[in-house]
Amino acid sequence: MSLQTPYYLIDRAALLVNLRQAARLRALSGAKILLALKCFATWPVFDLMREYLDGTTSSSLYELQLGREKFGGETHAYSVAWADREIDAAVANADKIIFNSVSQLQRLGARAAAIPRGLRLNPGVSASNYDLADPARPFSRLGEADVARVEEVIAQLDGFMIHNNCDNRDFARFDRLLGQVEERWAPLLARVDWVSLGGGIHFTAPGYPLEALGARLARFAERHGVQVFLEPGEALVHDSATLEVTVLDTLHNGKALAVVDAATEAHMPDLLIYGLQARIEPDRGAHRYMVCGRTCLAGDVFGEYDFPEPLVPGSRLSLRDAAGYTMVKKNWFNGVGMPAIAVKEPDGRVHVVREFGYRDYVGSLG
Ligand SMILES: *Cc1c(COP(=O)(O)O)cnc(C)c1O
Repeated sequence: MSLQTPYYLIDRAALLVNLRQAARLRALSGAKILLALKCFATWPVFDLMREYLDGTTSSSLYELQLGREKFGGETHAYSVAWADREIDAAVANADKIIFNSVSQLQRLGARAAAIPRGLRLNPGVSASNYDLADPARPFSRLGEADVARVEEVIAQLDGFMIHNNCDNRDFARFDRLLGQVEERWAPLLARVDWVSLGGGIHFTAPGYPLEALGARLARFAERHGVQVFLEPGEALVHDSATLEVTVLDTLHNGKALAVVDAATEAHMPDLLIYGLQARIEPDRGAHRYMVCGRTCLAGDVFGEYDFPEPLVPGSRLSLRDAAGYTMVKKNWFNGVGMPAIAVKEPDGRVHVVREFGYRDYVGSLG
């Protein structure tokens, strides 16, 4: 197959660096590590990922089925709200099921009695810099916050899930938050077999004190007599893929502009949602451009960067950090050509695993 831009390029060697950190953390802490599919679900590289991880966790029935079918290992099922018609399929595919509320547990729990059942707790404290992504925001629907209400149903529960970190690179902050969780929930933690501490701990960030985290998790497990699970997404795939694009046109309107054959809203929507700029490196040189997408959205801008040479139609650019929350969110806005998916092997060979065409666009609409 041809290698035409735009395409997402997954770098197996870069992925491996993160996976080895995860394996070290697993050994240091005794925790089991499950990939959060909501962050990254590009299954053609699951063969590599499953060697270093224990399984997957999900946030919907389809993610659950994908995890069971394409990844294997321990498969956790979670949903903010299961529909009645989904629960039997969820139980059939899952090793453990986690309900988001006491009311869901009471209504559907009996149909899930064949497998361990858990409940999501909302500890009311979190590490998140964005209200949009803060599970502990006011009026949050994400998990049960009422200790007494959880105590009433504890006999039906084997475990808890607590997800209240987000891109947290600060071990001291994680340690403090976990301490607050323990203060409030310790009597109930002692009555279950397992606790998932969710995702959002950026243990693959440069300089992260992995030993300290491992020791803290081991202490938590011992103190409460539980098996700890972690559900990382971003930390596992950080900086392991790029979006490869080509400049189609340049123009000038107060600034030098370059339009590329991809789009923020369609191919990197988190840039718009969280007000971020894509990363292009090395971002040095005498020629500064605003790099823009090709949709009609006026603010379809990847960012501003310095280049060593003027950009011209045909110039190739590489946008970093295109793995987590990127491929799982791509869409057909503006009917813009969907980036193919390619994989770079450790020996440098690149092969395309999937291309998308007009038929895929039509098929997504009717
Ligand atoms: C989003 C999410 C994760 C993964 O979070 P990352 O920040 O990508 O590590 C894990 N568990 C739950 C319940 C989540 O909602």
